Amino acid sequence: MPERKKRVFSGMQPSGEAHLGNYLGALRQWVEMQEDHDCVWCIVDDHAITAGGDPRELPKNVFDLAVSFLAVGLDPEKSIIFVQSDVHQHTELAWLFNAVTPVGELERMTQYKDKSQRFESVPAGIFNYPILQAADILLYLTDAVPVGEDQRQHLELTREIARKWNAAYGDLFPEPEAIIGKAGRILGLDGDAKMSKSLGNTVGVLAEPEEVWARVRTAVTDPQRVRRDDPGRPEVCNVYALHGFFTDEPTRDDIAARCRAGEIGCVDCKKILSAGISDAFAPFRERAEHFRNHPEEVRRILDDGAEKARAIASETMGRVRHLMGLEWREALDS
Ligand code: SF4
Repeated sequence: MPERKKRVFSGMQPSGEAHLGNYLGALRQWVEMQEDHDCVWCIVDDHAITAGGDPRELPKNVFDLAVSFLAVGLDPEKSIIFVQSDVHQHTELAWLFNAVTPVGELERMTQYKDKSQRFESVPAGIFNYPILQAADILLYLTDAVPVGEDQRQHLELTREIARKWNAAYGDLFPEPEAIIGKAGRILGLDGDAKMSKSLGNTVGVLAEPEEVWARVRTAVTDPQRVRRDDPGRPEVCNVYALHGFFTDEPTRDDIAARCRAGEIGCVDCKKILSAGISDAFAPFRERAEHFRNHPEEVRRILDDGAEKARAIASETMGRVRHLMGLEWREALDS
């Protein structure tokens, strides 16, 4: 009998088109995983509401992220691709997980501490966010979750919720393991913070070459390099780190040697990077154009994905409700 593929789940918040950081840190790996995993990829709009924002923009942001998913190569024939709010079981299970989640653990979450600083009165959604994440993951009896370092703590909590729930109600949920991406921490073009659209330190995966260049040309380089013939230090330069994803090894070695010798200017170096990014993303732009011109196809893919997700989710919830004593009619009849 063929071995059962490991099920993986991951989600991404819809804030429009995916960007370079999303691609290098997650989507690239998701595309690869489709070949040998049972994949469930979710656009987490229920999570997005905790960030506030204009609700009139949310549907378009969901659509744009779906187009990005499909453009970079997530394939509905190989993966389940859907929108979180289309599967109400996520929020239902999150509520039920409140029964076993210690408040102290939620208070310990680094992301909660960071995010809550931005509010005078902290919304409960910010506090409960990791419970909904646990529900997202465990609803599909997920074996493994591709995560960045910054999500590791939340996954640990998910594992703890699974343990506590299983101990209280019965052995149902696996403790999903973390699959840490190979890309490591990817800094934004400012060379300082994690890539993020709100910080404006990244570039969209569907950006045209001119736009890619407009963003890459602003990238921070070795701060000690002032003039073109100053010797540079590729090992501390974020532009050089990004070359690692888009430039072949001989060219990278050549850049490093010429940088150290003060024989290549940063503008020329960035032009090579910008061209590499634009070339790598060319097939994405082409596929995105197709999907933007056929929104009905995107809608059908998300509808199909939601239907498949609901089938798994409702089976899990049937077992959860039974084990938690929430099927009172059936219990009284038996
Ligand atoms: Fe960085 Fe390239 Fe400038 Fe060297 S030449 S400092 S690697 S941008």
